[in-house]
Amino acid sequence: MPTQFLILVVDDDAVTRLMICRFLERNGYATKAAEHGREAVEMFQKQSPDLVLMDAKMPLMDGFLACEEIKRLPRSKHTPVMMITGLEDDDSVDRAFAAGATDFITKPIHWAILRNRVKYLLRAVEAERKLHLSDRVFQSTSEGIVVTDAKAVIQSVNPAFSQITGYHSDEAVGRHTRMLKSGNHDLSFYEKMWDALIQSGKWQGEIWNRRKSGELYPQWASFSAIRGPSDEITNYVAVFSDLTAAKESEKTLVHITGHDGLTDLPNRLAFFERTQKFLADARRRQERVGVLMLDLDRFKVVNETMGHNLGDGLLVEVAKRLISVIPDRGLLARMGGDEFGLLCPCVQEPEDMALLAQKVLNILEAPFDIQDMELFIGASIGIGLFPMDGMDVNTLVRNADTAMYHAKEQGRNNFQFYRDKLNTSSMARMILEGSLRSALDRNEFELFYQPQVDIQSGALVGAEALIRWNHPERGMVSPGEFIPMAEETGLILPMGRWALRSACQRAVAWSNEGLPPIRVAVNLSGLQFRQPDFIEIVEREVQRSGLDPQYLELELTESIAMGDVEETFDKLKTLSEMGCQIAIDDFGTGFSSLSYLKRFPIDTLKIDRSFVRNCTEDSEDAAIVKTFIGLAHSLKLRVIAEGVETEPQRLFMVQNSCDEIQGYLYGRPMPAGEFQKMLTEQLHNGGGVHLTP
Ligand code: C2E
Ligand code: CA
Ligand code: CA
Repeated sequence: MPTQFLILVVDDDAVTRLMICRFLERNGYATKAAEHGREAVEMFQKQSPDLVLMDAKMPLMDGFLACEEIKRLPRSKHTPVMMITGLEDDDSVDRAFAAGATDFITKPIHWAILRNRVKYLLRAVEAERKLHLSDRVFQSTSEGIVVTDAKAVIQSVNPAFSQITGYHSDEAVGRHTRMLKSGNHDLSFYEKMWDALIQSGKWQGEIWNRRKSGELYPQWASFSAIRGPSDEITNYVAVFSDLTAAKESEKTLVHITGHDGLTDLPNRLAFFERTQKFLADARRRQERVGVLMLDLDRFKVVNETMGHNLGDGLLVEVAKRLISVIPDRGLLARMGGDEFGLLCPCVQEPEDMALLAQKVLNILEAPFDIQDMELFIGASIGIGLFPMDGMDVNTLVRNADTAMYHAKEQGRNNFQFYRDKLNTSSMARMILEGSLRSALDRNEFELFYQPQVDIQSGALVGAEALIRWNHPERGMVSPGEFIPMAEETGLILPMGRWALRSACQRAVAWSNEGLPPIRVAVNLSGLQFRQPDFIEIVEREVQRSGLDPQYLELELTESIAMGDVEETFDKLKTLSEMGCQIAIDDFGTGFSSLSYLKRFPIDTLKIDRSFVRNCTEDSEDAAIVKTFIGLAHSLKLRVIAEGVETEPQRLFMVQNSCDEIQGYLYGRPMPAGEFQKMLTEQLHNGGGVHLTP
């Protein structure tokens, strides 16, 4: 229903007033009546009529004056005033227009003329108001509006346009719209846009433009083509809104939906999305990518018995530690519950992933301090490799998960590859290496002692200290497995020092028990011996233990001794002067220069087991062993035969005047306690060592 116009009728003559009102009402208008000018002005302010019909001649305030006053009111601008004059004289007409009247009509009133005049005046009012409204919209909307001509030359812009683009209307009007081009879109984008505009008269979409400042910004734009009477395009109108803010909030939305609120890590969704993108890249670059799925062991128990607050706290702390091991360009996410996912780009070898997994296990090993409690928690890790274990993120994560469950079955706190092959051989090595690093701190090393027996008297005269690794899962690990690894990683240094210290302390402990003093032999690695402060280390350990240095024998192989001969000579001399004994280990397997050996202050030659093994069957080996013994004796060295396992071998050594024997025949390397028992028995029996079968 159209709005009903209100007409204010002003006449001092009551009959005329009434008749005009009746007539207008019959024509569908609402009316108000005023008796004189003064009342008219008051009424105008109260009622805001759409049109005023004003008699010119009235008492108190005439029509001209009242018209003038009304026109001074702020809201009267778009309200026409029609004067009703008695006379059609020029003077009255001039006065009416001068007072601001829009039109006039003469008395006596011609009703048909009145009807038409009112009708047209009000139509104009309506049109003007609409225009005013659209102008208001144009001026005040937050959307930028650009009107161009058919050649896209800007005709007018609104304030929002200026606010968004930074161009004042003076700077924009008269210029082509290409001034706003961002350069972000190619030619075909604009071609398509113009095609659509010309074909259908409309185009809508996201488009990047450039602000006056040079900054690019995204906008949502709606373009319309305006056609003239003969259907030719006369104008284009663009309405657009700045999407910068929307994009920002979109980003935070993604942040919220892609994020885990507890740990502030990306969540499963984000992990999948980003990994998928990552794999596409890796495929192009032909790179290997690793995915590591980690599930905390015993987390459920913690969570259920100690409460969810504590569980949450633990997850946050776990996340913090995991963040510290994220590889370059890698990605850590909380997949849900107590499961985390780690994406590792650029994996050269599967071993890289094994190392990373071990690193993760190591950093989770230290206890967590949460709410004044110390919690220990392990993790089970599954590893999947792109592209072998899956070409897409779903397969890859699923397979890594499978591997993770496998790790759980394996007794937790370990990692497994999805590919079984990778779990053995080289991986076993990696696992070992990882745990070797912490073995010393965790006190997992132990020295075993193997008897060295005087061949003439059968007395126990010495012990070779041989290191053992008490691995928490694998049990005893033989030195052949971990010593080379320890040498590669440098761990041999702290390890060797530990062995030296323990052996010295043990020898002192035995003599403190009242047992006869016994020589302990400690093996040295090349790396250890080459350490610049090696001598000081030995000195310190000997002093600290209080061992008489003559009971300490240092074993080094020919190849170590032959490294840097001058250095060896100096070091051995110093050690010898300190009172330590020096043994050449595995003699016969290296290519020692005898003349140098002669120069070195050596006490003992240990004939390698490989010659001893065959000396009773192989005449060549027999000859070699005999030569070694002869040579040693000529240099005034004591000779120890290593690896004597049988009675014939022992007899061979007796017959050839070997000095001492070390081998399974007299005893395997044994824990210190067992060795002490042997020593004690010897003390009580006053001699001979019991043979072990
Ligand atoms: P090695 O110095 O030649 O030590 C003697 C090895 O021969 C020991 O092996 C010992 O158990 C073994 N053996 C002794 N008697 C017999 C026998 O009658 N028959 C046979 N078949 N074997 C016998 P183990 O304990 O496995 O040690 C292997 C090597 O590891 C040692 O060879 C030594 O080079 C190295 N090693 C052991 N402990 C240490 C250490 O504390 N520091 C360093 N640097 N190396 C060590
Ligand atoms: Ca040895
Ligand atoms: Ca040896």
